[in-house]
Amino acid sequence: MKCTLCGEQTVYVRQYDKLAFCKRHFNEQMRKRVQKTITRYKMLGRNDRIAIGVSGGKDSIALLNIMSKIEKDFPESELVAIIIDEGIANYRDEGLHFAKKHAERLDIEYHIFSFEKDFGYNLDYIIKTLGERGKDREYGACSYCGILRRKILNKAAKEVNADILLTGHNLEDEAETILLNIIRGDIKRLVRLDPKPRKIHHSLVPRAKPFRMTPQAEIVMYCYLNDLEYQEIPCPYAVEAYRGDVRDFIFKTQEKQPMLSFNIVRGLDNLLKMVSTIPSSSKMQDCSKCGEAAASNLCKSCWLKDKISTIQNL
Ligand SMILES: [Zn+2]
Ligand SMILES: [Zn+2]
Repeated sequence: MKCTLCGEQTVYVRQYDKLAFCKRHFNEQMRKRVQKTITRYKMLGRNDRIAIGVSGGKDSIALLNIMSKIEKDFPESELVAIIIDEGIANYRDEGLHFAKKHAERLDIEYHIFSFEKDFGYNLDYIIKTLGERGKDREYGACSYCGILRRKILNKAAKEVNADILLTGHNLEDEAETILLNIIRGDIKRLVRLDPKPRKIHHSLVPRAKPFRMTPQAEIVMYCYLNDLEYQEIPCPYAVEAYRGDVRDFIFKTQEKQPMLSFNIVRGLDNLLKMVSTIPSSSKMQDCSKCGEAAASNLCKSCWLKDKISTIQNL
């Protein structure tokens, strides 16, 4: 099979439109789609100091590489990588290693933040303290990890003076989050998925997802074709992931309907166009303890800290 654009040997056939690409054109279409996504949703300004959250997994490593190419066209902008160490034994070190290695190779400034230093405890300690899931502990480990990762990523973005924080969430991640919010009936959160970065709270650095239109399979292929090493082993806590069922549904249905995730994500875009102003009820409040963004009187991070100290004092 030959590349649809130049006739060279094909390395990848796009599932949803059957276009075939050689390596050069595959890389080019990846970069162009990210550029188009950034432009369409006005994700970046010309002089932005751009922070990228880098875990060392395929999505963030691919994003770091593509952004380093795109950013070269904007001499007034700057890239900075933020690496978070959650503190997960026998797992996190490998991801950190890949994250640092790529940032160094691309000559991108990077900063490492950790749960231990910025929250007081690492994830292993938190999960051990909260106890067994279903018995003593209410949610899966990923929920607690997510609360702290969001909080510390934001803190880090502020500390490095970033104007915007980019994350590696891909098309299927976005479709999954949309479906989960619909399933839970959480329309406030659904509306907050607006792809245009905005300041929803004075303490929050605006966020954007340049990969929200890029399928996971293409990110994997991009890493493979360009010899980008990333952490492949799953997190030991992933077995507790709450998202499993919806994720399985997406990938299974997608085999027959390759446009599924695109349709879900575009559906949200169309919905948001109809709701031209975000209702004030979806805005965030100030946490009564730390003053940062909170959905209720206390932010989730302060709630978690209280919970842990209650257990410690038992
Ligand atoms: Zn080609
Ligand atoms: Zn708080």
